[in-house]
Amino acid sequence: ALHSHPSGRHFLQIPGPTNVPDRVLRAIDNATIDHRGPEFGVLGKSVLAGMKKVFKTEADVVIYPSSGTGAWEAALVNTLSPGDLVLMVETGHFATLWKKMAVKLGLRVEFLEGDWRHGIDAAQIHARLTADKAHEIKAVCAVHNETATGVTSNIAALRQAMDDSGHPALFMVDTISSLGSMDYRHDEWGVDVTVAGSQKGLMLPPGLSFNAISAKALAASGTAALRRSYWDWKEMLAINPSGYFPYTPATNLLYGLHEALEMLFAEGLDHVFARHRRYGEATREAARAWGLDILCKNPDEYSSVLTAVVMPDGHSADAFRKVVLRHFDMSLGQGLSKLSDKVFRIGHLGDMNDLTLCGTLAGVEMGLGIAGVPHRKGGAQAAMDHLAQSSMAALAQAA
Ligand code: PLP
Repeated sequence: ALHSHPSGRHFLQIPGPTNVPDRVLRAIDNATIDHRGPEFGVLGKSVLAGMKKVFKTEADVVIYPSSGTGAWEAALVNTLSPGDLVLMVETGHFATLWKKMAVKLGLRVEFLEGDWRHGIDAAQIHARLTADKAHEIKAVCAVHNETATGVTSNIAALRQAMDDSGHPALFMVDTISSLGSMDYRHDEWGVDVTVAGSQKGLMLPPGLSFNAISAKALAASGTAALRRSYWDWKEMLAINPSGYFPYTPATNLLYGLHEALEMLFAEGLDHVFARHRRYGEATREAARAWGLDILCKNPDEYSSVLTAVVMPDGHSADAFRKVVLRHFDMSLGQGLSKLSDKVFRIGHLGDMNDLTLCGTLAGVEMGLGIAGVPHRKGGAQAAMDHLAQSSMAALAQAA
């Protein structure tokens, strides 16, 4: 049969895990070394310093051998006490999961309802914090880029709202799907704990997670009474300055992280962010040309990382994704929980170039045709036009 032996590279166009560059794979494929030996200390110091640059922070960063969920838990258990009130916003599936975790850990959560098509309303946060005269709310938690919806929240605006209300709550931000793909500034935006993961913008396999920790969050950890052991920042921060870890680190993933950081810095973070912005623009041009609805309602909140496309009524997003996988060996993101079977998500983050995006959108367009999904042709062409024009403009500017 035509597709019994897929050739070429699989197109992994889900919004993470992303394609791991060959350079990073080769770096991971080295002998595991003594994690208490001299070589390791050099590596440990280097990746910790590199991650500070990515978070844009001078403050502490810790690295866990875990998926992003572990770093979510670390952020909460290191800073809060049982029964503390936390303000969270229902931007989508991942905000809902973080909220469920907070409840399981014994926190009280006020969960502001959302329609999964908008980011966090800074004015609403301002109003709620201003009304909290007793300062019962101990933390505000936000997801920077909702991976389930392709909607971002304006973190600088949220910081401003918190400052304007004069409220002392901690500010925690999940950047699991934005860090390394979209501009993010831990220090400048006054974030207390930033949560991140390895498998998206950092172009690594899953398995590493991160906290960036402000001085205020560190001080809070001194009195925070939630039970913690593995996730405790204390032992990590005691030994990290020497480049070592309190337990066996994920040595080979750290080799990969070292390589990925070199790649990001060589390209330049601003260039990386601009590249992803262009991919977002081109993908939305394609969706508009197809006549399909983009889930994100507010253009100011469009994600550079992924685009969630709404299926026309009566058509199954999962059946469409199956067609694309079968015919073109491409994985697209599925609709999660509330959005199950209703949207598909196009990942345009990580290690990819203009032609990767063209191939991706061509695969989507051919798949729409084969699956019998009503659409207009010309989406891939519209994206190509956008890529070509913006590429010419960028070269003309550089000349
Ligand atoms: N938060 C966001 C925004 C995510 O995209 C994800 C995973 O996709 C998570 C949290 C959970 O991270 P993990 O699956 O690595 O535990």
